[in-house]
Amino acid sequence: VNILSIFVALRFVQYFFEKYLSRLNFDFVHDKENQSKAQKELGLTDEDMHNSLAYFKDRFQFGSFSNWLKLLSFMVFLVLGGFGLLESLAKSSVWDAQSGVQVGLVFFAYLGLISLLFSLPFRYYSTFVIEDKHGFNKQNPKGFVMDTLKSMGLAMILGGVLVGIILYIMDHLGEWWWLWAWAAMTGFSVFTSWAYPTLIAPLFNKFSKLEDGELSTSIQQLADKVGFASDGVFVMDASTRSSHGNAYFTGVFGKKRIVLFDTLVSSMSPNQVIAVLAHELGHFKLHHVRGMLIRSTIMTGVVLYILSLCLPLEAFYRAFHFDGVSSYGALVVFGMWFGLVDAVLSPIESFLSRKNEFAADAFACANIDQPKDLRSALLVLREKSKSLPMAHPWYSAYYYSHPPILERLEAMPE
Ligand SMILES: [Zn+2]
Repeated sequence: VNILSIFVALRFVQYFFEKYLSRLNFDFVHDKENQSKAQKELGLTDEDMHNSLAYFKDRFQFGSFSNWLKLLSFMVFLVLGGFGLLESLAKSSVWDAQSGVQVGLVFFAYLGLISLLFSLPFRYYSTFVIEDKHGFNKQNPKGFVMDTLKSMGLAMILGGVLVGIILYIMDHLGEWWWLWAWAAMTGFSVFTSWAYPTLIAPLFNKFSKLEDGELSTSIQQLADKVGFASDGVFVMDASTRSSHGNAYFTGVFGKKRIVLFDTLVSSMSPNQVIAVLAHELGHFKLHHVRGMLIRSTIMTGVVLYILSLCLPLEAFYRAFHFDGVSSYGALVVFGMWFGLVDAVLSPIESFLSRKNEFAADAFACANIDQPKDLRSALLVLREKSKSLPMAHPWYSAYYYSHPPILERLEAMPE
């Protein structure tokens, strides 16, 4: 049997399954009964519902079109031997075509450049046509270009270092390479979490200390109450890009920062901001963050071990037009197969995540003065983001890391 045809067939099966789910969801949210039920329970106006549906529909149509085009072009690239072409290009542009590290780094640089150029028009359209039309986009084309250049530079530096190390380990450390690669990847992810708040995030946004006042006092009280040692509360200028609001905390080793989007602070009362923050602190206090880190570290180890078993399977490399076994080829070829497995596992990850969301909501309600502040905060967030309050159960089971707002409110105390 032909390995490439099996892969292409499975990829199309995945595509059509996801397309079917989208269609189910599209019909579900356009059902008048579902709409009026959600409107009644959340007290939404007709206009609000109309705006959310219009935003949904625009993204739905754009998503259908771009997903299909992306899949088709990638399959054409794959079947016509795009990887083989990039590999020989990479081999001819390095000093030592025998060095897996050199060829691999140049190969991934070409691949990254192609996928960047390909995805750019889609990102541009999404930002300057769809988000703009619905009043979310606050960025100008110059800012968009700067963002793209900065992320590209960052990906080249961080990605280049990580990929270089992994390729070196694969080529030089013998049959136990996967253990070393596991250690390197874990170390790298600890490093980026450490560097993110102080070195990486400031490249894209300005962070300023939250001014002393009612809000900062209440935040400090809440952090003390739940035992969260923070390095400070910062406001991020999210409004320079988009009007979507959020709050999060980042950092490791007692250098944790609480970050509030300025869009959140400006659209909510102090009590509502506290409620959103209490939810985020719930994730921390209930060890969701640690649990997720442990799960992903274990998954990385399992994937690398399986990769070490697959590594010698030459037929797989040839099927994807690579010129025999290579470390960089293994990352690409088996990475694509793992992507298929990942799609099958995604409902499990979404399920765990949704369970954590309910737990964090319950934690927040127990640690703020008035649970109704969380309810109203969630309603403000939904209204501001024009997200639909309902979704088809299968669709949300497959995709949603957060339950639809209707389900969250039903699970909260009055
Ligand atoms: Zn959450």
